[in-house]
Amino acid sequence: MEKNWTSYFQQQLPEIIEELRTYVEMETPTHNKQAVDRLGSLIAERFRQLGCRVESLPQEQYGNQLRMEYGDGDEQILILGHFDTVKEVGTLAVEPCREENGRLYGPGTYDMKAGIVFSYFALRAMMEHNLSPKNKLVFFWNTDEEIGSVSSEMLIREEAKRSKYALVLEPAAGDGSLKTSRKGGGDFILKVTGRAAHAGNDHAKGVNAIAELAHHVLAIQSFTNYEAGTTLSVGTITGGSASNVVPDFAMTEIDVRIQSREESERITRLMSQLTPVHPEAKLFVEGGITKPPMERTAGTEKLFLHAQEQARLESFELTEQGVGGTSDGNFAADAGTPTLDGLGPVGDGAHASHEHIVIDAIPGRIAVMLRMFLTLS
Ligand SMILES: [Zn+2]
Repeated sequence: MEKNWTSYFQQQLPEIIEELRTYVEMETPTHNKQAVDRLGSLIAERFRQLGCRVESLPQEQYGNQLRMEYGDGDEQILILGHFDTVKEVGTLAVEPCREENGRLYGPGTYDMKAGIVFSYFALRAMMEHNLSPKNKLVFFWNTDEEIGSVSSEMLIREEAKRSKYALVLEPAAGDGSLKTSRKGGGDFILKVTGRAAHAGNDHAKGVNAIAELAHHVLAIQSFTNYEAGTTLSVGTITGGSASNVVPDFAMTEIDVRIQSREESERITRLMSQLTPVHPEAKLFVEGGITKPPMERTAGTEKLFLHAQEQARLESFELTEQGVGGTSDGNFAADAGTPTLDGLGPVGDGAHASHEHIVIDAIPGRIAVMLRMFLTLS
């Protein structure tokens, strides 16, 4: 392992960028199955050429999920990524894939087509050098991560349960840090019904749903506990029809983020225990916490230290960070599998028009990925 893989991949940089450009120029919004499947077929073909055993798992509504195996070994390491994006077909016309100031811009470059392309070049280097991983590598590329992995969550959980570790090739944090914890979260909806009445003639007969909701808005906000990493944000509020009508309906949508299982349970309990202040008002709580938190376990720490060691062999320093946003790493971690996230590109602007990756950082990231694939046991 004396080889400096960074300089090896440095030489391949033009080819790596070209390959990524091919991926990016095939737009893949989650809801466009046909478009997503087109790139899926290309990815399947590419990895098959490297000797991967590729399985396409058919989906009716979203793009087919891809599961691919590389190498042998009794135990498996799961590598997660997605190739759907949030941008509609046609975005490329206004946000073309382009190189500028040492960055490669384009929808899906950072989140997260680069991660998949990096793994391809890592595998290819392995093949060209006759190196084999200590464990079987199982790649799972899904197609609906951007909408919460509705059709792939169970598949990811099952695959994670079978795996010794999970590596997520989502982008790194802004400074290149790997992601060792992620908050979990979800959305609650609180609907309130009251009784309509004429605001002038029958004020006393009405049950004002907005007034009722107001009590709960403040209560819900107060469930926030910054120290525990828990936030609740009342994000929208609607209700009523006209100023002279006592409103019989009001509702609010609430964004929830939590950092631990206990907090997830606490919030779920508190939300279910909301009771009407006005005896004739009714409350309906919908939604809930759908993404479990990815906690920084001892297993995660061990994985991170291993990655850090691999980076040192390539003469650079890797750091770690806990982040607020979620990924499929949350599901893998919730299945009990030590999970390390953010192994993909360095860059910025996920889901935004300035989405890009830093070209200089590419060789080092692939080098660490390759070393992880080879040495994790
Ligand atoms: Zn992503």
